[in-house]
Amino acid sequence: NKRVVLKRHVTGFPTEEDMEVVVDTVPLRVPAGSPAMLVQNLYLSCDPWMRGRMSKHDDGGAAETAPDFVVGETLVNFGVGKVIDSTHPAFKASDLVWGMSGWEEYTLVSQPESLFKVNHTDLPLSYYTGVLGLTGLTAYASFMELGRPKRGDFVFVSAASGAVGQIAGQLAKIAGCYVVGSAGSDEKVDLLKTKFGFDDAFNYKSEADLAAALKRRLPDGIDIYVDNVGGATLDAALLNMRWGGRVVVCGMISQYNLNEPYGLRNMYCIIPKALRVEGFNATGYFHMYSRFEEEMARYIREGKVVVVQDVVEGIESAPAALIGLFSGKNVGKQLVALARE
Ligand code: NDP
Repeated sequence: NKRVVLKRHVTGFPTEEDMEVVVDTVPLRVPAGSPAMLVQNLYLSCDPWMRGRMSKHDDGGAAETAPDFVVGETLVNFGVGKVIDSTHPAFKASDLVWGMSGWEEYTLVSQPESLFKVNHTDLPLSYYTGVLGLTGLTAYASFMELGRPKRGDFVFVSAASGAVGQIAGQLAKIAGCYVVGSAGSDEKVDLLKTKFGFDDAFNYKSEADLAAALKRRLPDGIDIYVDNVGGATLDAALLNMRWGGRVVVCGMISQYNLNEPYGLRNMYCIIPKALRVEGFNATGYFHMYSRFEEEMARYIREGKVVVVQDVVEGIESAPAALIGLFSGKNVGKQLVALARE
């Protein structure tokens, strides 16, 4: 059983040397005792939130979504796998599942509530790391519930070619909105316009003045900003929001590796523009999962939502794939394929 462990706690940008792939053996049956499932992990999801857990917080991460990872222990995140043995009545061998698992080839899962059954086996199984998993749910629930889109709304999405962004943008088009995206390379900008159907897009790295770049593309202002990055982009969006606009804060990836966070200058805009700025945390939206899964599977089958994934092979590739998220190396949803079904 190969697994990725945390070698040391991280400050600043994570590196491959912060993690290590180690090998041990595991029994391929659930040991006697409390009911559990032994899962063979087929795909691992790489998610920016893992970075927060790689730091050492004074409170052990109590104020974060989940506790700090422990040095020497296996990293944990969402993944897709196959049950190979189960003593739990809710799961049987050969069930395909997604949910919380270890960054390893085999995981013993004792909490059935951390796993969901894969219902749409006609769609690519790897989609359950993204569009049909955490990041799809994030895009859907944040945009629909916090964004409250109306036909004709002007929408801006940052990190728009990524896992959350590409889905949020396409949902905005389905809702009849005008959508502009930002991304960190010309290749990604091209993808936004030609593949995901954004009305306009720009490379934020080549714009000296982000507020002016937004003003040029959205001269009447922004009704909904789906924020995946925070920092200077959020500041520029605040200046360009329309009266009554909604800022849906899904993530602030530009801040995760900074010791000194960027100081926002334009928060005052929330008063004269009567803005609603709301943080989103997917852990509070899993009650919507079934409805979301059905709707998203239908969009995919109908071709209304297309998916771009960045797949690397083998668990040895996982640390580099994870840290690549913080330099924009990934084009689309980043995942690691361990074994095919
Ligand atoms: P992505 O697939 O979008 O990958 C991360 C991308 O972020 C990179 O490709 C890069 O794209 C961009 N990026 C990296 N560093 C910076 C930076 N300094 N400034 C601007 N952009 C940067 O990741 P996800 O879609 O999985 O996640 C997107 C956001 O959503 C993250 O902030 C994440 O934490 C958040 N999230 C929140 C959830 C919640 O429940 N609240 C759940 C899931 C995700 P580019 O080349 O365009 O710069």
